[in-house]
Amino acid sequence: MRKNIVAGNWKMNTTLQEGVALAKEVNDALDKVTPKCDVIICVPFTHLAPVAGVINDKLGLGAENCADHKSGAYTGEVSAPMVASTGAKYVILGHSERRQYYGETSETLKEKVNLALANNLTPIFCIGEVLEQRENGTYLDVVKAQIEEALFDLSAEDFSKLILAYEPVWAIGTGKTATDDQAEEMHAHIRKVIEDKYGKEVAENTSILYGGSCKPSNAQALFAKPNVDGGLIGGASLKAEDFMGIVTAF
Ligand code: PEP
Repeated sequence: MRKNIVAGNWKMNTTLQEGVALAKEVNDALDKVTPKCDVIICVPFTHLAPVAGVINDKLGLGAENCADHKSGAYTGEVSAPMVASTGAKYVILGHSERRQYYGETSETLKEKVNLALANNLTPIFCIGEVLEQRENGTYLDVVKAQIEEALFDLSAEDFSKLILAYEPVWAIGTGKTATDDQAEEMHAHIRKVIEDKYGKEVAENTSILYGGSCKPSNAQALFAKPNVDGGLIGGASLKAEDFMGIVTAF
């Protein structure tokens, strides 16, 4: 069966010292509970190796991005093999901020997904519509196209290694959460899109996380929906107490 997962996305926040302290705080808090979900933190590249050195196996570690090339003359980029060599096991790909500010397209994302998988990193692949698409009623088609374009060249075996994260762009960092019914409608749709391509077993086993202003006060209602398998958490992952409030919502 699919896993429940709560993953933090620190984005471009915390100095190295602050990040290491936060990771330790989350890990210490996790040691005191028996979480009913896998817990992951995705941190800036600079923090990966030092954070890997202070956490234990109760806490998964991921990057927030990786390059669309394996190595070479790409100044400033960080490759999937480099990420994997830090001890990280996950990588967020296709976050709306990367699509919006850094021009990431389905074509570049395909390369990133392939490189992540080739280096034993589990992609946390983000999809989601903007407000205009929600309001004009095209949101289901938009998300379907994002999945088809970037992921449907994968074999069923490789697709099964992914985690998906539905993040309505209008809900990210805005304080405006999708209602649990809006989330459930989209998550059920995503599962059907997967089923139509890869079959029921793959669809049922794919973890689909919700992201967008998820916090301790709304996590329980969201996670109670049958097709919501956890959350990708931005702002609320930067305070151990808030993040743990979401982890323990399961
Ligand atoms: C995110 O950026 O992945 C996210 C969900 O952010 P926030 O929780 O701050 O809306």
